[in-house]
Amino acid sequence: MELKIIESDKKKSKPQGALGFGKYFTDHMFVMEYENGSWGNARIQPYGPFTLDPSASVFHYAQAVFEGTKAYRNEKGEIRLFRPRDNLLRMNDSCDRVCIPSFDVDFVLDALVKLVLLDKDWIPTQSGTALYIRPTAISAEPALGVHAANKYIFFIILSPVGAYYAHGLEPVGLYVEKEYVRASKGGTGHHKVAGNYAASLKAGEKAKSLGYDQVMWLDAKEHKYVEEVGSMNIFFVLDGKAVTPALGGSILPGITRRSVIELLRSKNIPVEERLVDIGEVMRGVQNGSCTEIFGTGTAAVISPVGKLCYEGKDYVVGGGKMGAIASQVYEELTGIQAGKLADPFGWVKKIFG
Ligand SMILES: *Cc1c(COP(=O)(O)O)cnc(C)c1O
Repeated sequence: MELKIIESDKKKSKPQGALGFGKYFTDHMFVMEYENGSWGNARIQPYGPFTLDPSASVFHYAQAVFEGTKAYRNEKGEIRLFRPRDNLLRMNDSCDRVCIPSFDVDFVLDALVKLVLLDKDWIPTQSGTALYIRPTAISAEPALGVHAANKYIFFIILSPVGAYYAHGLEPVGLYVEKEYVRASKGGTGHHKVAGNYAASLKAGEKAKSLGYDQVMWLDAKEHKYVEEVGSMNIFFVLDGKAVTPALGGSILPGITRRSVIELLRSKNIPVEERLVDIGEVMRGVQNGSCTEIFGTGTAAVISPVGKLCYEGKDYVVGGGKMGAIASQVYEELTGIQAGKLADPFGWVKKIFG
């Protein structure tokens, strides 16, 4: 397939001041369409709205998947992506789950790199900032029958984002949710399918209204085993070992999660992927054997947990501060992403400088 590049002749002005998350978009986007049985018409074009028929299937039956990855630029102007191919492989898995036709990962990765380079002046350089990359695929057949659509749009948009933590890493408070569930085995929780996030909003709003930052999700069947947090995976340091819920079909297989496991194992810190009973966690928090809890995900990289609300009571975790293992992992991962530290794992794809 050929990639057309149509450059914008009107460049937008860059945002001044705080970037926040996902509020500003660059000058260009990548788009390709699926029609008559294949992906085609791939192009990089000026950023702008789509025109879709109100009957387009995505509005009714939510055939939609997305990804999130980042480009990092350091003070020297070097630009790096972190495991971007893994995101596109995972996106193809997500597509398969909701019957969106698969795409050529290497073609899209090449287009993604060209898009980031075309809009590279938008990438902020301060530590903690990045260019967030959002690949998305939606169905677009104008018909109301419930079936896998015969038309799709794939696009990539870019958004400069600020440091996740404006004032250093601040531990978050989590609400352990026993009523609502995020995902069940056999459902779509293992994939980055858009509908999962609609299903999670109610519990997220409830947690916020009670004064917590995010939800800690438990399993759908017994409401007993920890699954993940908001849109992050979760790690516990229990008796000096790093413990994280095993991927059982309802947990999103995070690329940060996998990287943290590989990093810890390379330092001979034991990691267990297994069922994690919330009772075990609460006992550990109370008797001091659970010294740290932290979330992992592309947005925050590492998010230390300082407080848990369980059955109406608050519990302080690790003295309410970021722990030693979370700090070490954060420094190493962000160091590798910025090119400050060596990358023995081959995770980084340097695309400029
Ligand atoms: C994206 C996401 C994660 C984290 O995945 P990363 O690849 O590490 O960014 C975890 N949980 C959910 C529900 C997610 O959507």
